[in-house]
Amino acid sequence: MPDVKLAVRNDVLGKRRALSTESRKQKSQAIVDSLIELSLFKDAVTIATYLPLRSEADLSRLLRLEHRSKCFVAPRTLSNFELSFHRVTPSDMLEMGFGGARQPTEVADLVPPSAIDLFLVPLAACDPQGNRLGFGKGYYDRALADAPGYKLGIGFHCQLVDHIPFDSYDVPMNGFLSEEGLIQF
Ligand code: ADP
Ligand code: MG
Repeated sequence: MPDVKLAVRNDVLGKRRALSTESRKQKSQAIVDSLIELSLFKDAVTIATYLPLRSEADLSRLLRLEHRSKCFVAPRTLSNFELSFHRVTPSDMLEMGFGGARQPTEVADLVPPSAIDLFLVPLAACDPQGNRLGFGKGYYDRALADAPGYKLGIGFHCQLVDHIPFDSYDVPMNGFLSEEGLIQF
């Protein structure tokens, strides 16, 4: 199974890297524009976002646009491939975590996953059943295992593939949002 996941991950990440910087920027803008119109976003108060790594869809504008009405949190990587979620504002200091991802500092307010209404989940790939392929370490599978909030996978349309192999510990998404709009599972 890991080999099949690895093959799909490499294939889709290759497609994502092949998008130009300008195209990724436009698509990221379109994702933020549709996200803020969704009732599942409007109804959420505490929202887990992420700070983009490499060619990931960049939601940074969301934090600047909406930070007055929402509580945003972002993940910190811990040992054992676990995540903790901490409050972030547009002016907070960030530091480097696993794989070079920026993250909130240890002193930022900790918010338990049970208090998060909406998770914006970065991914390598997603399929029409909501199966998610991450980056191979299972960070979000652990973090979301008992989390009651809505799990919205975020990515570009090229990251939606027909079928993703899944294991018992994989946490499925409730929806997927790309520049082509929302799919709910
Ligand atoms: P990803 O979801 O990042 O694509 P995988 O699904 O391949 O990665 O998971 C990576 C590793 O994380 C697997 O070896 C798996 O055993 C481990 N893992 C995933 N979820 C859990 C969990 N809830 N508890 C313990 N280990 C887990
Ligand atoms: Mg997984």
